[in-house]
Amino acid sequence: MIRSVVRALLLSLGVLLVLCAASGGTPLVRAGRFMPNEFEHGRIGTACVRHPFVRLAADTVPIVYGFAYTEPGMEFFPNTRRGWAGGCVSGEARFTEVAFCCACRVEQTGWLALQTTRRLGEVLSQPLRR
Ligand SMILES: [Zn+2]
Repeated sequence: MIRSVVRALLLSLGVLLVLCAASGGTPLVRAGRFMPNEFEHGRIGTACVRHPFVRLAADTVPIVYGFAYTEPGMEFFPNTRRGWAGGCVSGEARFTEVAFCCACRVEQTGWLALQTTRRLGEVLSQPLRR
C-alpha cells in the first residue's frame, strides 16, 4: 500500500513538473481588477532561496482578503506564492503579480499530499467507536 502511494505521489510530481514547465501564460484579467506589485515584479528572475538553481518566474494570483493569509508549509517552501495577502479591508483588485518558484510549488504539492496521507492513515488506524 505504501509503495503504491509513493508511486502515485512520484507520478503526480512528474506530471506537475511537466505542467509547471509548460505553464507561464498569464490569465486575462479585467482592467481595475489587477493590482501591480512592484516588490514582487523586482524579484522575477532572481534565485529562489531554497532552490538556488531555479529562477523565480511571474504569475498572476488571486488576492486573498481577510484576517490572516498564510500558505501551508511556507517555512519549507518560501516561494510558492499561490495567493497574495490583501489585508483586512477588501479592495477593488482581485489579482496581482507574484514571483514564484516552480520547484517550491511542486514540493509543496507533494508535501501536502503526504500530510493528507498521514492523517488519513491515522484516522483509519483508530478503532471504530460505537
Ligand atoms: Zn524554491
